[in-house]
Amino acid sequence: MIANPVPWPNGARCAVAFTFDMDADSILHLAHHTSADTRLAAMSMLRYGPEIAVPRLVELYKRFDMHQTFFLPAWCMERYPAAVEAILQGGHEIAHHGYLHEHPNELPSEEELYWLQRGIDVFVAMTGERPRGFRAPTYKFSRHTLTHLVNESFVYDASLMGDDVPYLLENAAGRVVELPSHYALDDWPHFMASRDFNYFMSIKPPRQAMEVYAAEFDAMWEYGGLWIAVWHPFLSGRLARCVAIAELIEYMHKKGQVWFARLDEIAAYVQQLTQARTWVPRVDRLPYYPGPIPELGEAEPTLAR
Ligand SMILES: [Zn+2]
Repeated sequence: MIANPVPWPNGARCAVAFTFDMDADSILHLAHHTSADTRLAAMSMLRYGPEIAVPRLVELYKRFDMHQTFFLPAWCMERYPAAVEAILQGGHEIAHHGYLHEHPNELPSEEELYWLQRGIDVFVAMTGERPRGFRAPTYKFSRHTLTHLVNESFVYDASLMGDDVPYLLENAAGRVVELPSHYALDDWPHFMASRDFNYFMSIKPPRQAMEVYAAEFDAMWEYGGLWIAVWHPFLSGRLARCVAIAELIEYMHKKGQVWFARLDEIAAYVQQLTQARTWVPRVDRLPYYPGPIPELGEAEPTLAR
C-alpha cells in the first residue's frame, strides 16, 4: 500500500508524533484585530491552552515517558513564558509556527521572511537555540516558504499533506525534510465550535474523534507510515478529550512496535537514512506552479462558476 515504506528504527512498524500547535489567542487577534479585546469568552477559551491544557499535557507525556513537539507562534512564547518553560522542562521540542500566526501565502515574500526572522529571534532569546522545524499557520505554506526555510537553516517542515511517509521538498535554494499529516488527524474538524471564528462543528463524544485517529494509526502501523496528530491545547487539552487521548496512547503502547518521537528526531533519522542511502525518500519539487495556469486566462474563469 505504501510504495516506499521507511525502515523505522528498532523494528518499529510506524512512527508516531503527537504535535500540539499552541496558538492561544494569537488567532483571535489575527481574525478580529480591532475587537479581539472585547471578545472575552473566546479569549478565555483560547487562553485555556497555555494556562490549563499545556501543563496537563506535559504531565500526561511524563506519565508515558514521551517527548513530543509543540509548535508555537513566537508572540505566544512572549505572552506565555510559563508554558514555554513547562514544555522545555518536559524535554519536548518547540518548533516555529509564525510570529502572530500570520498566513505566509497571503503575504509578499519579504514580509513573510520578516515575520519568520522575528520569530527566530524570539526562539534564540528564549530557548538559546534556533528552531529546527516549521509548521505554516493554518497550513498556509507559500510559494516562497521553502526558500526562506532553507536560507534560515530549518531541517524540516510539517505543513503539507503530500504523502504517508516523510519526503523531501526541493527547489533551487536547497532541501528540507517534509513530515506530512492531513485533516483527519487535525482536531479542528472534530472539536472546534466557536461563533467568533464562524466554525461550528457539532459536539460529539471524544471517542468518535479517537476512532478516526486510531483507524489512521492502525493503517500506518500496518503499512509502515508516519502518524502525526495536528492538535491544539485549547481543543484537545479539554478534560474529557485528554482522558480519551490517554486511552489512545495506551492502545498504541499495547499494540507495540511504535516509535514515539519528536519531529526533530524523525527528521534527523530521515536525514541519516538519506545520507547513508539506506532509504531514499521521494522528492517533491516546489513550487508546483509558477502562477495561475494559463488555460483559464486572467479573468475570473467561467469554469469555476
Ligand atoms: Zn496554528
